[in-house]
This record gives sequence, structure tokens and C-alpha cells, in this order.
Amino acid sequence: MTSPDPLALHESVPAQLAELRLERGRPLIVTDCDEVLVEFLKGLERYLEANNLWIDLQSFALSGNIKHRDTNEPVPPKEMPALLERFFDTETHRLDAVEGAADALAELSKRAQVVVLSNLPLTQRRTRIDNLSAQGLDYPVIANQGLKGGPVRKLAELVEAPVFFLDDLPPNISSVAEAYEPSHRIHFIADERLAKLLGPAKDSHFHTTDWNAAKAFIEEKLAAEGF
Ligand SMILES: [Mg+2]
Repeated sequence: MTSPDPLALHESVPAQLAELRLERGRPLIVTDCDEVLVEFLKGLERYLEANNLWIDLQSFALSGNIKHRDTNEPVPPKEMPALLERFFDTETHRLDAVEGAADALAELSKRAQVVVLSNLPLTQRRTRIDNLSAQGLDYPVIANQGLKGGPVRKLAELVEAPVFFLDDLPPNISSVAEAYEPSHRIHFIADERLAKLLGPAKDSHFHTTDWNAAKAFIEEKLAAEGF
């Protein structure tokens, strides 16, 4: 088996990158959305509850851990993609912002530009933008598919300035480390229960559940690099 190309770009991404108005020389914060800017797990739990399901948080995985309330039988892995698609269809517009995210990014925006890099279908992009901007998170959103190293590398080439990357999923952090090693990588998991299930990602520089702590880390790195 060959490992995935760290610079791979999903076909929908180049056109979205071309729409961005990025300032060359200004630091860039690339942030994931689910479990970083919005409370993915809490939204998922609300959705599961309404559908007579629950998530058994015994490990950091969705597949195998979503169970029927009555029988405790897990939803079979082959039914998971459809379940998640229905979840995003019904819940994306009303996921709650993570506490402190809007204030931290507003403050950081004085010194850096912000792009949201979120794995979701292109058809959901508008809904995600509207949900975020209604909660004080008015930033461009790129709807990605797959690992994030490729898009982050392209973004880094556009700005030629310090790049920060935040994500809850270790494979995305490793992908960015491989594609653009100079990036500052924050392993951010908003939900404390999930954070406890998963230690710091090996290719991250900082691990937190707290936007104030993430902001302090970013500000310190910016100052160290003269921004
Ligand atoms: Mg995420």
C-alpha cells in the first residue's frame, strides 16, 4: 500500500482558493470547523437523541460507537456514511459555536488573516458560512474532502508568512506537517470528553480544548517571528 500524496488537492478546492483575497506577507490562521469552531459532538448527540440513538464514548471513533437506545446494538459501519450525511443535512445550520472562538479569532484578526478549512460537501458550504457568521465567525470557508496538507501548502504559498493550523483529527495534523513543515500546528478538541480519549497528536506543537490558550500560543509565536 502506498501512502497518500501529501500534496493532493480535491478537485473542488482550486476554484475555492482562487476566490480568496489573501494578503501576501500577513500571517494566516487555517482552522478546522467541526470540534474546533463549532460543537460537533454536542450537535451529533442532539441529533442521535432525536433518532433514538446514542454515542458510547469508549474510544475516539464514530463508527461502532453509535448505538440504538433500545437494544444497544451498534449502527453497522456501512450505514455510517448515510447517517452522517443526514446529520449534516439537518444540523449544520444550527451547530453552536465553541466558547471563546469568536472573541479569540476577532482579536487575532488584528494581526493575522483567517481561513476556515472544513471537510464537508460543497453543497453544505453556504450553510456552514451562514451558521458561522451568525455567531461572530465571519471568515471564508473552504469545503475540502480528504487530508488537509495539500490545501494548507497552497495557502502557505499564497501568503508567504507564518501559517497556523488547528484541527481535532491527528491524520490532518500529520498531513499538514508533511506538506508544510514550517506550519505551527495546534491539536484543538473542544469537547473535554473527546480530548481525554485522545492525547496530543504526534505532529502537533500544542494540544488544547481552550480558545484562550490557543490564542496565547499563536500570539507568542507571532511575537517570536516579529509580527
Ligand atoms: Mg474537525
